[in-house]
Amino acid sequence: MAVPKKKVSPSRAGMRRSHQALTASAHIECSNCGELKRPHHVCSHCGHYDGREVMAADKAKGVVRV
Ligand SMILES: [Zn+2]
Repeated sequence: MAVPKKKVSPSRAGMRRSHQALTASAHIECSNCGELKRPHHVCSHCGHYDGREVMAADKAKGVVRV
C-alpha cells in the first residue's frame, strides 16, 4: 500500500483545504416578482426569464429549485 513519505504539516493541510471552502451560492432578485432566483435561470416563483414568461408559474416550481 502506498504510504505518504512525510507528515503533512497543519499549515499545509490548511492550505490544501482552503481550496475546498464552500462559497455562497449566487442569487439575484427576479425582475418580475422580486423573489430570489439563480442568475441565468428561469425564476422558480413566476416562471419568467429575460422579462417574459417562458414557463407556467406552477410548472416552473418543480423544475428549478432555489
Ligand atoms: Zn419571478
